[in-house]
Amino acid sequence: MSSSRPSQVTVPYQDTALEPVAPARVRALRRHLVDSLRDLRSAKHPERLIQKPTPVLEGFTATVAAEGCARCRGFCCQKGGEHAYIDDRTMARVRRDHPELDARAVIRLYVDAVAPVGFAGSCVFHGPNGCTLARALRAELCNSYYCTGLWDFLNKKEKPDAVVVVAARNGKGSRSGVLRKDV
Ligand code: SF4
Ligand code: SF4
Repeated sequence: MSSSRPSQVTVPYQDTALEPVAPARVRALRRHLVDSLRDLRSAKHPERLIQKPTPVLEGFTATVAAEGCARCRGFCCQKGGEHAYIDDRTMARVRRDHPELDARAVIRLYVDAVAPVGFAGSCVFHGPNGCTLARALRAELCNSYYCTGLWDFLNKKEKPDAVVVVAARNGKGSRSGVLRKDV
């Protein structure tokens, strides 16, 4: 095991209250999905809307990123509202991946994934244990986004052998134990 001093990865922290996701918010999500599907229908070349998939992290980087997002509790999801950044590009991918589903069934997939209880004012899929929407249904922005602290770590040419993740904002937060490459 390495004895090097851990490097610190700092992420934000959010601690808004949990509350049931109101039916009006689910209706707004449904309307947004209908609009996105309509936009997709009017596209001349829908397949060209599909964005390049973001590679899934693996190994130590995945461990550090997962720890960061879990401790942060989804600060970057707070602006997801009832749209969750979903648009015609997301719909183009989902329709390609699920040719067996009609528009109504696609909308049902999303509505069924809404967090029953979520962080107040945040994305309708932002539950107490993270995102309740499957990666394959999320907007590519959600799959590709990393805040500055994680981005800096992911882009380090030589990753440190040991990392401590610190989530902090407005005097609140938490810190992880030491995460090591070789464990
Ligand atoms: S990407 Fe950054 S801001 Fe977003 S949940 Fe993860 S640690 Fe938090
Ligand atoms: S869909 Fe998931 S990852 Fe995207 S903003 Fe909402 S909770 Fe966050």
